[in-house]
Amino acid sequence: MSSRWLLTALILGGLILGVVIGQLLHDPAYDAADPSAVHAHGTALAIFDFLGFTVFMGLLKMLIVPLIASSVIVGVTSVGDFSRLGRMGACTLAYYFATMLVAVVIGLVIVSMLQPGAPLVDTLGSAALPEYQPDESVRATADAGLIGVAKNLVSQMIPTNIVAAMAKGQPLGVITFSIFFGVVMTLVGARAQPVTDFVNGVFEVLMKMVHAIMWLAPVGVFALLAWTVMRIGLGVFSGAIGLYMIAVLLGLALHGLIVLPLVLRVFGRTAPLRFLHQMRQALMTALATDSSSATLPVTLECATESAGVNRRTAGFVLPLGATINMDGTALYEAVAVVFMAQAFGVELSMIQLIIVAVTATLAAVGAAGIPSAGLVTMVIVVDAVNGSLSAAGGATIPIAGIGLIIGVDRILDMFRTVVNVWGDAVGAKIIDRVAGDGEAHDERPTADSAPIG
Ligand code: ASP
Repeated sequence: MSSRWLLTALILGGLILGVVIGQLLHDPAYDAADPSAVHAHGTALAIFDFLGFTVFMGLLKMLIVPLIASSVIVGVTSVGDFSRLGRMGACTLAYYFATMLVAVVIGLVIVSMLQPGAPLVDTLGSAALPEYQPDESVRATADAGLIGVAKNLVSQMIPTNIVAAMAKGQPLGVITFSIFFGVVMTLVGARAQPVTDFVNGVFEVLMKMVHAIMWLAPVGVFALLAWTVMRIGLGVFSGAIGLYMIAVLLGLALHGLIVLPLVLRVFGRTAPLRFLHQMRQALMTALATDSSSATLPVTLECATESAGVNRRTAGFVLPLGATINMDGTALYEAVAVVFMAQAFGVELSMIQLIIVAVTATLAAVGAAGIPSAGLVTMVIVVDAVNGSLSAAGGATIPIAGIGLIIGVDRILDMFRTVVNVWGDAVGAKIIDRVAGDGEAHDERPTADSAPIG
């Protein structure tokens, strides 16, 4: 068995074991705030938290900033020709927005057909509003609105202090700086050659570091899954909001397993199943970490080492995708908002559904690639729809409705993050063929297709 296969088997084992152990240890009566709560539960959660978040996710996150900087610079300098770079940028953005919009439409169709909120409408009188106090980040996002989020995005793209942006782990600032730096490196030419060699070397070393960290992935994904399932329990699927969860998962499955593979087949001329297989470690990492950003090192590694995506394309498309391309999040936000409207008996007109579609796409772009970011930026969608509802003199969706879905958010976040990362990977493969150098990368031997040994 090759080491790559062995690692995949171990990670898959970790995922399954994490779900099983988490469910066995799940205790619906456990309350972390209650001092008399069963002590063993707190200890088990603390161990899973340490192994999963502190060690595994910590190591991956440690690589993100240097990896984004070096991969974008390697990408930009090796494209070299500016008109090709421009074409690549335009194709990348067109792909991101088109696929996010398609994802939102799928979500809207499914939630309108399944009507998961309808059964709740009688139980949710105003007296039965869920207890939910929006926290700081939710309130700040709601206050800022869509314009505020756009301003925030632009100010992150042009940081006044690149070191501060790196220290805060703000990827957009690092990406802008690196694109600019790479373009000017190309213009400087021979005198910048030592920098080019240096950055290429840094990228090479970081890829090897990802490789090494992935040997901790079986334990890391086990701990993350056990932590999640232990806290939430799988019983939620049969609860009052089980149908809502099924609507989100069905939408994600349709988009991830039918739409994106079709797009990959047509525009990328690539066999979807084979590509899915080549990206498997990144997808499993996304499932466990709930974070496109923390998964980025693994996505880059799988795309370039296994799937034969050219470094120049992957280095440019994937870091940008991990930050702004979120098909799963866009779909989820649309389903969640319509579900809340249904649960509170608020009728949405066609215009309001279009507002949901557009704002959910923009809110997904504004969401960072970190756990629960989609839940926070969803208030923008609720706000925009409420603006239209109150202008029409109708009832609005209570923001407190988020309390209905917050308890199961982590589980849905796992799956939407997988679709986010899958969308980025499919994008890299397509852009590589459409706007890259046109090489037939499928024919080159890759880690998966090369003879073993
Ligand atoms: N966790 C998601 C990601 O990192 C973002 C979200 O939808 O919350 O891609």
